[in-house]
Amino acid sequence: MNKDLFRQIPQVNDMLSLPGVAALGEQWSRGEIVAALRDVLDQLRADLKDGGGLPDFASDEFADEVSVAMTSRRQLNLRPVINGTGIIIHTNLGRAPLAPTALQAMDAAARGYTNIEFDLNTGKRGSRYDHIRELLTDLTGAEDAVVVNNCAAAVTVAMATFAKDRDVIVSRGELVEIGGSFRIPDVITQNGARLVEVGTTNKTHMADFENALSDETAVILRTHTSNYRLLGFTAKPTLQELAKFAHDNNVLLVEDLGSGTLIDLAQHGIGEEPTVGESIAAGVDLVMFSGDKLLGGPQAGIMVGRADLIAAIRKTPLLRAMRVDKLSLAALEATLRLYQAPFQPEVEIPVLAMLTAKPDALQAVATELSDALNQIDRVTSQVQPIRGEAGGGSLPGIELESFCATIEINDLGPQQTITALREGDPAIIGRIVKDKVLLDARTLMHGDIVRVARSVGAIANP
Ligand SMILES: *Cc1c(COP(=O)(O)O)cnc(C)c1O
Repeated sequence: MNKDLFRQIPQVNDMLSLPGVAALGEQWSRGEIVAALRDVLDQLRADLKDGGGLPDFASDEFADEVSVAMTSRRQLNLRPVINGTGIIIHTNLGRAPLAPTALQAMDAAARGYTNIEFDLNTGKRGSRYDHIRELLTDLTGAEDAVVVNNCAAAVTVAMATFAKDRDVIVSRGELVEIGGSFRIPDVITQNGARLVEVGTTNKTHMADFENALSDETAVILRTHTSNYRLLGFTAKPTLQELAKFAHDNNVLLVEDLGSGTLIDLAQHGIGEEPTVGESIAAGVDLVMFSGDKLLGGPQAGIMVGRADLIAAIRKTPLLRAMRVDKLSLAALEATLRLYQAPFQPEVEIPVLAMLTAKPDALQAVATELSDALNQIDRVTSQVQPIRGEAGGGSLPGIELESFCATIEINDLGPQQTITALREGDPAIIGRIVKDKVLLDARTLMHGDIVRVARSVGAIANP
């Protein structure tokens, strides 16, 4: 490392008057230029440490470098990425991409004023929940519906409203942690209810519920074990049995379905996920599920069930603190409408389209991507079969057959390649399997192939 070179780096203030840098002042504020210069100089010091040399600070190339640093500073922090992981409901990547009509509804609601809480028939105050109530009751068979911020909020509201200072009975097989520290036992106790555990991890019988029942019991809570699956020597009562028992004894049967699908995915050969309608038909009093998991809509916590229970929820002050906003409501309504005839949700809703995509269609996408990559200098790509999963605590243990394109860039190892892809523009999130970087075709969206090729081209041939 040459200390002299470090000393030759000019002060940021002196650099502002360099001709190339000063010219940037026409487009950018002084503060932005200073911040960008600092970024460039940090990078330069790192390069010097690695044995690099000094640039010509007065050159156009150096001014360009500052300009590139400024552009990247102006980029939004929250921005689109390309999901090459194959995990459809990827919580860290924002879960469900929305259908075009949902985007239009959000855009329209965001741009101006809406009738969110205004009844256009009477000219009086309306309820924000009325926009989705009938859609949800039609699609699930429930008497009424209300929506909050997310499913975690829905469970919280349900516990606080119906079980405060009372007992909630839960099977030990369902005391799960969903992620982001959402743990069923904690949600119950933190909302002032008492947890009564029954049964064992693998087996819980009707008699366990009968023995736990007391005057203090308010709720029997059934939870979807979203992110794990019990296999082998297991047992639990059916929803019908639990519902009959609950109603004979004047307590509520509440179900946290988590993913909550509105269509029967088994018809597509995917898992045995119970539908929301089946839970309602089985006699569950209140069912809660997410808007942005298998439903394929915006983040939301949907609560459907008995009219008197939904009415009670609408009255609790807690609902106000978990209020769903107009953008989410707009997107949710538009998404729910795609579940009605003449639409086919498997075609219209991106999450369902990805989930039900056929292997030959995925192979075609992977091939198209691979062909585009092979046209780039210093890049080679192959098509390979791969197994993926739905993600987001949906369809645990179900493997989805897919195809991927591998990416090999000359001189770069897999770890360097995956990092470069992630730091590229647009950012691409892939996987490394058996030392190969790959992008799963299942989660690629329209237009992604061209964008991947552009990003990879810039990495391979800077
Ligand atoms: C995902 C999940 C939740 C949390 O839902 P969010 O909408 O992310 O708040 C709660 N319960 C179950 C069973 C889940 O699968």
